[in-house]
Amino acid sequence: MRSAALRERYTEVCESLHAACQKYGRAPSSVRLLAVSKKHAVEDMLALYGFGQQIFGENYVQEALGKAAVLAASGLEPERILHLIGHLQSKKAAQVAGRFALIHSLDSRHLADALEKRLADGALQPVLIEVNIGDEPQKSGLAAQDLEAFAEYLQEHCPHLELQGLMCLPPVFDAGERARPYFARLRKLNEALRTKTGLLLPELSMGMSGDYQAAIAEGATIVRIGTAIFGPRI
Ligand SMILES: *Cc1c(COP(=O)(O)O)cnc(C)c1O
Repeated sequence: MRSAALRERYTEVCESLHAACQKYGRAPSSVRLLAVSKKHAVEDMLALYGFGQQIFGENYVQEALGKAAVLAASGLEPERILHLIGHLQSKKAAQVAGRFALIHSLDSRHLADALEKRLADGALQPVLIEVNIGDEPQKSGLAAQDLEAFAEYLQEHCPHLELQGLMCLPPVFDAGERARPYFARLRKLNEALRTKTGLLLPELSMGMSGDYQAAIAEGATIVRIGTAIFGPRI
């Protein structure tokens, strides 16, 4: 995308985030914008970084690692900038462990074990548990009823995985306020998990281009926005 157009869209999104924070009584510093750059050019990511954007979300491991190499060659630190938000297969654990600032899509013991095994002593991998918030059989994410047992499993068996909170994709897409009950449910699940585990669990990753205002209303700390910034994916 032309740099001027990208800057314009980015500025609009930042202003709209700010307005939503004001509307719902949230401190702007308590909501981070994750720019979802999947299927967009790394040049656009570099331009956005130049405008002040700090973190980027990627879905596909090969694409993300390719972009990480370009970012590193440009003098940036991809392991501090890139988040992995897409479904992750256990067999790719070796390629991702320790390479992302945050993995949003932890959803099984098998994957947790695979990541844990690949992390060297001392290295911590921050993670979120992806919850299947609409209880949809075809969707990835952990069932809400399995959350507590899974978090306890992580505490006991995965000392290198640093659990920071929850992530969800609601079953309704581009639905604005209609997504709000699902975001409220994720917030309540996170609160219950805090009480149960004694962990801080500061992060709630929820809200995309079509519903981030509702997510901010319900306590999102990371909103994942692609299309509103970069335009349609090709
Ligand atoms: C693609 C994607 C987004 C961004 O969606 P937009 O509608 O383009 O803002 C957010 N989260 C996840 C998990 C995604 O796969």
